[in-house]
Amino acid sequence: MRTVWEAAGAEAVQPALPPAPGAEQYVALDFADSAVALPGGQFTDALGTPAAANRWLTEHGLAPAHAGLQAMCAAQLRALREQVRTLLASRIDGHPAPPAALQAVNDAMTRVPTASLLRWDDVHGLHRAAAHPTTQILDHALAALAADAAELLTGPDAEQLSACGSPPCNRYLLRTHGRRQWCSVRCGDRARAARAYARRSQLKGA
Ligand SMILES: [Zn+2]
Repeated sequence: MRTVWEAAGAEAVQPALPPAPGAEQYVALDFADSAVALPGGQFTDALGTPAAANRWLTEHGLAPAHAGLQAMCAAQLRALREQVRTLLASRIDGHPAPPAALQAVNDAMTRVPTASLLRWDDVHGLHRAAAHPTTQILDHALAALAADAAELLTGPDAEQLSACGSPPCNRYLLRTHGRRQWCSVRCGDRARAARAYARRSQLKGA
């Protein structure tokens, strides 16, 4: 009993939503959903610290554990996430894609380190120098996430892109099941409860 209670208590502190529909298919969608607004003004960010960002990348097969991510690396990931979210929003709303967001995704996509660059200095003369391993890992992850975002935004599933319709949730999803417009059962229940409450208030007011 004690274990169950503890698990329930832990969930109350850090409510974990299951991946939104489509997020297991597109890592870029899970990436976009990695900062979640929750009821009661709570906010969770799976990329909030270097350690958390490393864990997220490792869980998604994009970096080894203990890749040595720095605060700057986590900030770069969060910056790309904002731009991907901007593109998702503009695609869903049918608005023009903001040039800065396109630029950011294209920059990330073309960051893949392909070769050790040729350098020259007094001590070594001509030599080849590879980027720092952590930089290589991060660039590779940013490139993979950006490429997947581009695929999601232009591929056959783009028409199914949707924003969760249950405030304050800010997650995106693929509407794979008909008209479903919520990212999770929890959000659907909350939206239905809010509608019922609004109906009751209206009746009382009348
Ligand atoms: Zn939701």
